[in-house]
Amino acid sequence: MDYSQIISEITSNVASLYGQGKVADYIPELGKVAPRQFGFCLHLNNGEVFVHGDSEVKFSIQSISKVFTLSLAFSLLGEDIWKRVGVEPSGTAFNSLMQLEYEKGIPRNPLINAGALVITDMLVSNFQDPKTEILQFLRQLSGTQNIQYNETIAASERKTGYRNFALGYFLKSFGNLQNDVEQVLDVYFHQCSVEMTCRELASAMQVFSHHGMEPFTGQRILSMSQTKRLNAVMQTCGFYDEAGEFTFAVGLPGKSGVGGGIAALLPGQYSLAVWSPELNKKGNSVLGMKALELFTTLTGRSVF
Ligand code: GLN
Repeated sequence: MDYSQIISEITSNVASLYGQGKVADYIPELGKVAPRQFGFCLHLNNGEVFVHGDSEVKFSIQSISKVFTLSLAFSLLGEDIWKRVGVEPSGTAFNSLMQLEYEKGIPRNPLINAGALVITDMLVSNFQDPKTEILQFLRQLSGTQNIQYNETIAASERKTGYRNFALGYFLKSFGNLQNDVEQVLDVYFHQCSVEMTCRELASAMQVFSHHGMEPFTGQRILSMSQTKRLNAVMQTCGFYDEAGEFTFAVGLPGKSGVGGGIAALLPGQYSLAVWSPELNKKGNSVLGMKALELFTTLTGRSVF
């Protein structure tokens, strides 16, 4: 398979979609990112890497961080985590408050904001210094020390993250947040502010295409069964109220973020990361979604 050729064909094809989406600006600092950028990195399980476009540019991973904090909590606490968060797709926006009220403070899944806050709360309870532990985990998974928080973006979200504050206090009122709300939000805003390149993100996703084994050191991070569950949650819940659409169009487990990144994988075969900052109305990258749809169509390979 000529992956370089396929990726370069995709890159020229999706360029016609520039201008159809809008860069997220509800976090003011994210609104400053130049919109017309596109990066693609494919990381095969045999170690071969194909990069294209702006794949060495750092971007804010935002909600993609939820997959990594979930993995960390799952590896530490096992099945107990599912007592406080569900595994059903929400069908609502990532920052919606609605379901939380009638489902009595148990978020639908760990990849919407409410669920991610519960997972972050678990990390705050279990680590002396959760921010350092999260960063170390990301560095280990991506195989580089060059992963940092962006303090300016974290501060920008802290200033305007009213919905996340609302979700945090709402969870607390139901008894599903053990720690101080402000402390949990501080860690959450930091995990969202992490910056990675497509190359680094594709590497960090390798653990999921290797059935839970981190391939750079050979260390097992998640059991086979846990990895199956994680990939299943990404497949069904990774794109909020567009999870069905992503599965329909692309057919891979994955996760998006409002920084314009999408990370995805094919178990046993490859991981990949695509980035382009212009988002559709559901908060997913316009060019990124199309690029991945083309990728699984042109390669003829997806989980289906
Ligand atoms: N930090 C963002 C928020 O909580 C992440 C949202 C996202 O990427 N979908 O609003």
